[in-house]
Amino acid sequence: MTINLLSDTVTKPTKPMLEAMVNAEVGDDVFNADPTVNKLQENMATLFGKEAALFFPSGTMANQAAIKLHTQPGDQMICDKWAHVYSFEGGGAAVNSGVTSALIDGDRGMFTADQVQQVINPDDIHYAKSSLVCVENTTNKGGGACWDMNELKNIKRVCNENNLAFHLDGARLFNALVAKNEQPKEYGELFDTISICLSKGLGCPVGSVLLGSREHIKKALRIRKLFGGAMRQVGYLAAAGIYALDNHVKRLAEDHKNAKRIAEVLQNLSYIKKVEPVETNIVIFYTNDAIDDVNFVNKLKSEGVLITSMGQGKLRMVFHLDISRQMIEKLTKELNGLKF
Ligand SMILES: *Cc1c(COP(=O)(O)O)cnc(C)c1O
Repeated sequence: MTINLLSDTVTKPTKPMLEAMVNAEVGDDVFNADPTVNKLQENMATLFGKEAALFFPSGTMANQAAIKLHTQPGDQMICDKWAHVYSFEGGGAAVNSGVTSALIDGDRGMFTADQVQQVINPDDIHYAKSSLVCVENTTNKGGGACWDMNELKNIKRVCNENNLAFHLDGARLFNALVAKNEQPKEYGELFDTISICLSKGLGCPVGSVLLGSREHIKKALRIRKLFGGAMRQVGYLAAAGIYALDNHVKRLAEDHKNAKRIAEVLQNLSYIKKVEPVETNIVIFYTNDAIDDVNFVNKLKSEGVLITSMGQGKLRMVFHLDISRQMIEKLTKELNGLKF
């Protein structure tokens, strides 16, 4: 039995999800003729109270399209130093949109309205024009941390006062919604655009959705084509998304429970230095300085447990749909049995 905690992207479609996929009614989505894609887009837009939605092959492409539609070359976007849009998308913001990034030194990937205010450039020809703020919820490198809704509202106010667009990289937004018992429409109201991954906690093989106004999504449609992301009978994949929205959202609480349980196990081990607070499905922890983290990862690997080393002694486990109760028992045993 392999316990794959590398990411929540490693899940495979369940049997009923596959059934929904093969039974999907499809058409050529480039001609706007795929009823299943249209249904997914409508469902998502309605759920979040936005005018429109657009299906994307990846979260990266959805984020990059959002950055492009909110900016002009030479502009500056504002985000956390750990933000996926800045650090995990191949430098895409610079390549695709010609924007520079003002990085905020946040806390677990989150920052305050005051910090945003401080990095906004003055309206002066010497400076890049600040035009977009991106936040990430939950934060990836921040260990699945959830934003405080009040702080997001404060940032929105700063955006309004300074004519900045507000984009949410909500790759794992459903994790935050479930953990904090928040309503999707609260986010729809606050953000100009939201990207959401169906292929993370929701268990789809592929797919992300971008939400926004009708005008934003019209622009995004052109940008998606430009990026090479317009797809044909893609309703087979959208069907997985529709199935996941109906069946895989509430159960995210299970992943959060599993993550918390393993965090407790780690906390009590003598070879572990520190475990970051666990709010959702990600556990970030550090081994004692004397232990080489690559060696630690390999030792777990030889026991069938796959985890990620994020460098500088930082280790990550991500819990998801394909992690069973039995695997949690085995993982607990393996961790307790390790000797250094
Ligand atoms: C996974 C992820 C994305 C998108 O990744 P893709 O692999 O391109 O779908 C974007 N933002 C965050 C925070 C992520 O974790």
